[in-house]
Amino acid sequence: MTKITDLGVIETLEGLKSKEFSSEEVVSEYLKLIQSDSKLNAYIHFNGEKSLLEAKKSDQRRANNNSLPLDGLPIAVKDIFCVAGEKTSACSKILENFIPDYESTVTSKLWQAGGIYIGKTSMDEFAMGSSNETSYFGEVINPWSSDGDALVPGGSSGGSASAVAAKMAPIALGTDTGGSIRQPASFCGAVGIKPTYGRCSRWGIIAFASSLDQAGPITRSVKDSAVILQNMAGFDTMDSTSADIKVPDFINSCSKPIKGMKIGIPEEYRLDGLANDVQNVWESGIKWLKEAGAEIIDVTLPHTKYALPTYYIVAPAEASANLARYDGVKYGYRSENIKDLEDMYSQTRAEGFGAEVKRRILIGTYVLSAGYYDAYYLRAQKVRTKIVEDFTMAFNKCDAILTPTTPTGAFKIGEKNIDPVTMYMNDVFTVPASLAGLPAISIPSGLDAKGCPLGLQLIGKGFDEETIFSIGSILEESANFKNI
Ligand code: GLN
Repeated sequence: MTKITDLGVIETLEGLKSKEFSSEEVVSEYLKLIQSDSKLNAYIHFNGEKSLLEAKKSDQRRANNNSLPLDGLPIAVKDIFCVAGEKTSACSKILENFIPDYESTVTSKLWQAGGIYIGKTSMDEFAMGSSNETSYFGEVINPWSSDGDALVPGGSSGGSASAVAAKMAPIALGTDTGGSIRQPASFCGAVGIKPTYGRCSRWGIIAFASSLDQAGPITRSVKDSAVILQNMAGFDTMDSTSADIKVPDFINSCSKPIKGMKIGIPEEYRLDGLANDVQNVWESGIKWLKEAGAEIIDVTLPHTKYALPTYYIVAPAEASANLARYDGVKYGYRSENIKDLEDMYSQTRAEGFGAEVKRRILIGTYVLSAGYYDAYYLRAQKVRTKIVEDFTMAFNKCDAILTPTTPTGAFKIGEKNIDPVTMYMNDVFTVPASLAGLPAISIPSGLDAKGCPLGLQLIGKGFDEETIFSIGSILEESANFKNI
């Protein structure tokens, strides 16, 4: 028999609508799983009382025929979104006990649409990482791990991807700065979309790199992601970088044919030594799209090899500025071990931030410092423009670009966290679209040599999530990927 927690977003909403079950029942079932989880560590915080109260209100609205589009649907939230009255720490010691009294725009839109907050999911500290190993609250386990071989869920939205894949949430919110929705979705066999920069408001999301950060859903199907994004997106006067353009019908675009569409395959993504399993899944994707009537063409993105170094200058530079506010003065952790004001700043930051965050602050401060600014930061900005131009040229020839999401499947806990550059290599396929601000989705499309999920990435034109939803739906149907 299908359990309530086996259902995705659309199925849960259908069951609620037909009164097969109530929101209170759905929420209780998820809470049971969250409370008893001793394996994955996907959630770091939840508030069952509040969730159940909201579920009851939702059931009441339904009984009164006043229901909202997402009424009664449990939604897990990456710990980077401010949720009023709930601990919001970005999985850092420095914000361990921070309770905002305001709500991020994205979450408030989802609650206004009837969604129910079900808990906070773990993440890499301040969203810096690709394995969820930098979380102050401990590592998260990928539900695809076999006994004795614990795998990372990816990062930084690792808790969200793990929770969705393990059916501990029908949907979880993530954020993506250089791949943090797509890479964990790929590692856990889930769908994850990073919308166009500006599609969703960043207000109330703890900032990492403000010119790159975007919020998006992680779900078990393409259409589920479309339903959620529909309710998250839109202009917000509180975020001057959010775009004042109409949000199209994403749900409808999931069933549009792709016959005649041109799909670009970038030659620069055919890395030397690309693992066979990844290559094979990519070939399958190409075949499926051809069979659906799309035309496959070669495109070139000549500056791809500079994307990773560019990202690892731009993102730390912005992070070093954004994280300057954590100094122990107004909120967050404050060291007790202090002599004077300056000592308070430095001790607070030395004790409050983890090693990866400190590394990024150091790099960022260095590349922005007088004497190095032109050589690093300014140069990186220029290369970023070149990367944008590469995509503009490619999109003169094609409607979307198909690539693998990651160069490998999920790796073992501890395998890559010794050498930061090895870890950064994970982002090689996801970072270019981030630098260009383009929408990109990861669809589970096959298995690696270990039998763990591999995703394919579709990159679309700016504000054309519709096309990647259409093509993504075809990939999903053809891959017929079986979740755990
Ligand atoms: N893994 C990348 C990093 O560590 C991307 C993180 C993200 O998208 N938030 O910066």
